[in-house]
Order: sequence, then C-alpha cells, then structure tokens
Amino acid sequence: MATKQRVRSKNNSNISDVSKGLVLEALFSSIDTSKTGVITSVQFWNELKKRGILSDDPRLSDVKDAFDKACIGSKKGIDFSLFCETIKHALLVHKTLRGELCIPDFSGFCDEITDIFKEVKSNVNGNVANYIPQLARVNPKYFAVSICTIDGQRFSHGDTNTSFCLQSTCKPINYCIAHEELGEEKVHQHIGREPSGRSFNEMALNSDGLPHNPLINSGAIMCSSLIRRNIPIADRFDEVIKTWTELSGDVEPTFNNSVYLSEKQTADRNFALAYFMRENKAFPENTNLIETLEFYFQCCSIEVKSDSMASAAATLANGGVNPLTGKKVFSDGTAKNCLSLMNSCGMYDFSGEYAFKIGFPAKSGVSGALLIVIPNVMGICIWSPKLDELGNSVRGVEFSKKLGERFSFHNYDSLINNSEKKDPRRHKYESKMDNVINLIYAASCGDIDEIKRIEAKGVDLNVSDYDGRTALHLAASEGQFEVVDYLIKRKVNVNAKDRWGGTPLKDAKKSNHVDICNKIEKYLSK
Ligand code: GLU
Repeated sequence: MATKQRVRSKNNSNISDVSKGLVLEALFSSIDTSKTGVITSVQFWNELKKRGILSDDPRLSDVKDAFDKACIGSKKGIDFSLFCETIKHALLVHKTLRGELCIPDFSGFCDEITDIFKEVKSNVNGNVANYIPQLARVNPKYFAVSICTIDGQRFSHGDTNTSFCLQSTCKPINYCIAHEELGEEKVHQHIGREPSGRSFNEMALNSDGLPHNPLINSGAIMCSSLIRRNIPIADRFDEVIKTWTELSGDVEPTFNNSVYLSEKQTADRNFALAYFMRENKAFPENTNLIETLEFYFQCCSIEVKSDSMASAAATLANGGVNPLTGKKVFSDGTAKNCLSLMNSCGMYDFSGEYAFKIGFPAKSGVSGALLIVIPNVMGICIWSPKLDELGNSVRGVEFSKKLGERFSFHNYDSLINNSEKKDPRRHKYESKMDNVINLIYAASCGDIDEIKRIEAKGVDLNVSDYDGRTALHLAASEGQFEVVDYLIKRKVNVNAKDRWGGTPLKDAKKSNHVDICNKIEKYLSK
C-alpha cells in the first residue's frame, strides 16, 4: 500500500529507499507473526500458499533458489536483512503479501470451493462413457477440481494426481491453434460458428455444407485438417503437445495410447463424418482423411491433470497469456473468438441452457472433463467421469450451477444491482491501475521478467502514473541499466516528460548514473 501511494505521490520522483524499507518491514512482520525476528522457508511458502502462490511457481524459481541458499546453515530461518535481499526483485512476492492479486481473500474463496466440492460429491448420478471401451473402465468415483487465476493463484482439491484424457476439451485448443496460424477468415471458410442444435456426432452440416462449429466432432475433425498442414504429421502432433505444455505453465502432458487405439477402433461415426464432409468438398484440397482422423483421435487421447487444465483455462481467461509463465500462447483475438464459441456451443445440447443459467464459457468432454473460463478472473477444471444423457459430467454441471449461484460470474451479472451473489475479485479499475503501478515498480526494482509479463498482457510500456512518470523515468533514476536498455530497445518514448517537465535523462543525471546517461544520450544522438 505504501508503495502505491509513493508511486502516485505528488512531490517526489522516486520510490525512496525509506519507503521500500517500510514496505518490506511490513511484509516481513506479516510472516513473522510470533515476532521471533526470523522466518523459516516453510513459513514463507505457507504464507504465499494461503494466498494461492505455490512454491513450484515458475515465476519464483529464482526466489526459491535464493531462499534455499539463504536458509542453509540457519535452522531458525532468515532475518530481516537477508529477507530483503532475497525478495528485493520479486514483485510477485510483494503483491502477494500485500493482497493485491486477482482474488485478495484467496483462502476464503478456496473454502467455498471446497464446500461446493463436498456438496457435489454426494451426487453419484450418471454413467461413464461406454462407447469407447477404455473410457468405460475409468473409476467412476474420481472427482477433482483445480483453479488458476489470471495472477497465477492456484488451488486443487480431490483426485488431482490422476491424469485423464482431454477428449472434447482438445477441441477449443485445436481451434485456437488453427486460428492463430490461419486467422479467423481462413478457418471459418471451412467451419461455421453456429450451435448445431444436434448431438455432438450428428451426421449434419450447415447450409454451406460445412460443419456447424469447431466444438462438435465434424468441426473438430475439420480443425485437425487445418493445423500446420504443411509439415509432417508427427510434427503437427508435437505442435499440439507444445501448445498444451505452454498452456499448462511448462508442464508436458502425457499420451494414453490405449485410449487412442480404442478410440480409433470404435470410430465408425467419425469416419462417416469425415467422408460426408469430403463428399461436400468441405476440406481444403489434398487433405489426407485417414491421417487427419488419426491426428484428431490422438489429440483426444492426450492426458493432463486437473491443475494443468485449469492453467490452460486461465490462459484463455487472461487473453491468451499463461499466468504462470507470462508466455503469450494465443493472441487476445484468438482467445476471444474461442470463448465466444465455448459460450454458445461448448456444452453439447445443453449449451443454450448453460449459457442462460450459468453464463460463462465452458467446454466439456466425454472423459468427464470440464474446462471453465471466467474471463479476466480465472480458469477452472472439474473432472468427474460420470456423464448425463447429453454427455456432460454430472458433477461438472452441478458444480457450475452452484458456483454461479454463489458468485457473480455470469457474463451479465454485472447488470444486476443489489445482487446477493459474492464478488471475490478485485475491483476492475483497481486492477487496470495496478498494471501501471506494477510496471513502474518493476522498472524501479530492475525486474525485467515482470516487465515482460506485463507487456505480454498488452500494456503499453509508455504508460505513466498520476505524475506522468513512466517506467523509463523510474529505471533511469534508480540506476536500473538493464531495464533502461530493454525499454529503449522496445522503443519507448525516451523524451517522455513528467508533470515537472523531467525526462529520464534528467533523472539519470540527477542521480549520477553515468552509464545510463551515456546510453540515453547515445540513443538520442542517433
Ligand atoms: N473422442 C470423442 C469422439 O470423437 C470426443 C467426444 C467428446 O468428448 O465429445 O467420439
């Protein structure tokens, strides 16, 4: 909090050391609650975990190393000065401990999720999919839920260590891969975007002779024919695996060969659909049908755990940027189109009702997986294999209903005044302003990774705070040479003026950062 006020303050151009020290002191004492003057590594990670940030978070690998190193030889833990040294560049730690992530009361939110989980667990209705023998053998009792917010706060509960196959949840992602490569127009020359109003594997095409949408079987087979069609099939499959790895925050999915073989052997309907589409000239020229079908079955047979699927859903919620790695997996336009389709066509013949009553984009698969996206907030995965007559996970649908009853996650809940539903997220305006504050703060601390993550979200590196101070101003006055170098390479405005007319060069001169002055002057003289 103090840091925020500092960045916005009228009469000072820098985040001063005093102010930074106060912030760190407050963070330290929030962990050192029994006032022993030291904190252990276990205490530190527990505090972060309560707020949703886990110790395997790829953004904190440096902090983890530094902490482990600092703790060597001191069973009691580390003191304040070592703590400051260890986390000084880790903006994520600061934000987490200050309660500035997407869901500030994360542990309260997780309690509610656990409550819903318990309520839904007693529902044992439905049957596992039996049209693919390997799926029919899955233990029907499995039940897992995972959450990942757009700030990378994570929570998992239930059978989260067991993998399940993607089945139809591969469809939105394959659509995104094709969309990313070919663009909206080309993809939709071969696939419509209307709900079909029929079952997912119905022998039906739209009035143009195309599959109705990419989220039913015919459309998904078509998408498979579009993905990287100019490279060998093995490389095309690698491309899908690579994408799932990125969506999962650098966790590679596995492949279930017996599901694949079983699926291929029982795929008469999918073969029929493909021939029907070929008869209607729906495929691009020279499409190899058998190869395309096998590729589609392989994608359905990729396996993930629930936390990976939640991270994939969170990537869509975050406009295509994975929250855990900051990598832009899809463009925001691709994510937007995919979510529009998930909203209207993601839940088989229940899609209209789901959009009306529950109101957030989702995609289910016959393995009992359900991938849910709450745009700008979080991704959720629910996995429970028993399905209703429409092919959706019984518990998945019930969980969604209860989630929608408790929280204002419906697309149009924002229209309702005096809603009784809870809103766990931070205020929208606040989070927009956060991007600016975080960027400027990251620049002043020298945290280039964080700058890149904020940039990947689409934030203009030229944005300024209330005082007209930009990231470059702060980096220049704090002596952060690498940040200055990076920002100049990213072509920010080097002559930006703050409200007192100060430029980054003036700041660097004032603070006597000779290397930075030289850098800026050299750039300006070009
Ligand atoms: N592999 C399945 C099929 O094409 C996907 C079905 C689904 O999950 O909807 O039959």
